[in-house]
Amino acid sequence: MDYQKVIEEVYNEVLEENPRGKVADYIPELAHVDPDRFGIALVDLNGKVYGVGDCEVPFSIQSISKVHTLTMVFHVFKSKLWSRVNVEPSGNPFNSIAQLEFEKGIPRNPFINAGALVITDALCSKFEEPIKQISDFINEISGQNCVNIDHQVKNSEKNHGERNTAMAYFLKAYKNFDNEIAEVLDVYFSHCAMEMSCVDLAKSFSFLANDGYSIFANREIVSESHARRINALMLTCGFYDESGEFAFRVGLPGKSGVGGGVAAVMPHKFSVAVWSPELNEKGNSVKSVKALELLTDKLSFSLF
Ligand code: GLN
Repeated sequence: MDYQKVIEEVYNEVLEENPRGKVADYIPELAHVDPDRFGIALVDLNGKVYGVGDCEVPFSIQSISKVHTLTMVFHVFKSKLWSRVNVEPSGNPFNSIAQLEFEKGIPRNPFINAGALVITDALCSKFEEPIKQISDFINEISGQNCVNIDHQVKNSEKNHGERNTAMAYFLKAYKNFDNEIAEVLDVYFSHCAMEMSCVDLAKSFSFLANDGYSIFANREIVSESHARRINALMLTCGFYDESGEFAFRVGLPGKSGVGGGVAAVMPHKFSVAVWSPELNEKGNSVKSVKALELLTDKLSFSLF
């Protein structure tokens, strides 16, 4: 399969159609990014990297980091984790607080903000120096020292973090939050503010395409059964209230972030990351989703 040719075709076709959205500005620092950035990187299971456009330019991975933190926490807590967070699509925006009250402080899934805050809280309970541990973990599974925290983005989100702070207090009221709220929020904003390129991200997702084994770290990161479950969660919940549409149009497990990145995997074949900062109203990158739709069309395979 000539992946390089295919991703170049995809890249050119998306640029030609040029679908537009709006750069996230609720985190003011994110609004400074160049809206025309666009890159694609695909990594096959031999570790060969195919890239086009701005595939080596670091960007704010935001909620894509929720896959990395979930992986770490799931590995430690195993199925006990699911007493604190559910595994159902929410059908609501990523930052919605509404369901938390009806569902007694158990978030719908680990990828909406409320669920990710529970995951980060669990991580803080088990790991000393959690930010360092998350960075070390991502560096290891990417096979290189690629992670950098953008402190301007982190502080920008922290200064406008009322919703996430409210959610953390709400979780605490339901006794689903063990650590100091400020400490956990600091870790959460830090992992969301990590910068990586499409190449780094695609490498860091490779183990999910490979039954849990990372060819970059040369070890099993999670069991095959955990890898399958993380992929199931990405497929059903990775794009918030647009997860159905992503499954319909693209058909791969994936995760988006409001920095405009999307990382996805085709199990037993490849991992892929795309970045373009302009988002639709659901907070998912317009060009990145379009690129992945064209990719699975052209390759004529998806999960289905
Ligand atoms: N840090 C962002 C937030 O909590 C992440 C959201 C996202 O990427 N969807 O709002």
